[in-house]
Amino acid sequence: QAKHKGKSAFAHFAPEMTEVSHERLKMESSMRRALELKEFELYFQPIVQTDSGNLCAVEALLRWNNPAMGMVMPDRFIPLAEETGLITPIGEWVLEEACRAAVGWIQTTGRDIGISVNVSPRQFRDPGFTETVMHALSTSGLAPELLELEITERLILDNSIETAEILRQLDKAGIRLSVDDFGTGYSALSYLKSYPFDTLKIDKSFVQDVMKEPEDASLVRAIINMAHSLGLRVIAEGVEEEAQTHFLKKENCDFSQGYFYSRPLPAPEFDDWLSSNHRV
Ligand code: C2E
Ligand code: MG
Ligand code: MG
Ligand code: MG
Repeated sequence: QAKHKGKSAFAHFAPEMTEVSHERLKMESSMRRALELKEFELYFQPIVQTDSGNLCAVEALLRWNNPAMGMVMPDRFIPLAEETGLITPIGEWVLEEACRAAVGWIQTTGRDIGISVNVSPRQFRDPGFTETVMHALSTSGLAPELLELEITERLILDNSIETAEILRQLDKAGIRLSVDDFGTGYSALSYLKSYPFDTLKIDKSFVQDVMKEPEDASLVRAIINMAHSLGLRVIAEGVEEEAQTHFLKKENCDFSQGYFYSRPLPAPEFDDWLSSNHRV
């Protein structure tokens, strides 16, 4: 009986595993050709000054338009891109494209608009990373102060000398550095005093319940105060309702981002948003 059970469990398990790895292999080989086939696209989401609602910067968010899979969101393919190392060429494309887009908006509006780019740990640790960033700046002509790299606490957890050194180099070049999803990384806070970060982005999980959960309100308030006393700027992510904007104004949160202001938009729609938005 037991033997039979074991066997059938195994028989059930095996094809499933094969299916999963087959899916993975298919996705990986599609991803290898995706750059060449121009299947990647950047969406852009405004980051506004909380007080005035004025546009300050824009976050670039990657999408993968694949004929077979439709639009693939980053949470579904970035992990595989990291594992396979494909994140390096993909990330290079993102940087070049994002810097170029920002220069376009600066030219049409005559205003300094910053661009924020997400960088994953594997990409950051690539020996050519700093050079890739410098190249994106020089070919686009974007001022380094207008580029912000968003890094998660996951990267800082490794505590390596190399990570610290690259952060220092980027900071010295005038590029801004932010901690993305702040508060979710289970990381000690001590890195905030030793690494040259400029900005904390409060994770949307705290912002979302700020009006419903007093504990979340307390955490957001505490993060803002801590950031300011360390000389860091704060961005609230995931702002969806007007009531949240009043809370964030009251608590002096510098910048806000979320569906309340705009969803991430493809380039042509973002251009429309920009030209119809008189608060730029
Ligand atoms: P993230 O950097 O924390 O980006 C914010 C995510 O929250 C985005 O999801 C955005 O669409 C979503 N969002 C914005 N406003 C709201 C809101 O008001 N409510 C809610 N519920 N969500 C909101 P998205 O675009 O699916 O990206 C997910 C993650 O994928 C990003 O999180 C980032 O970690 C990663 N990612 C995106 N683009 C890139 C990229 O070019 N390179 C790398 N390495 N990672 C990327
Ligand atoms: Mg981000
Ligand atoms: Mg700095
Ligand atoms: Mg985030």
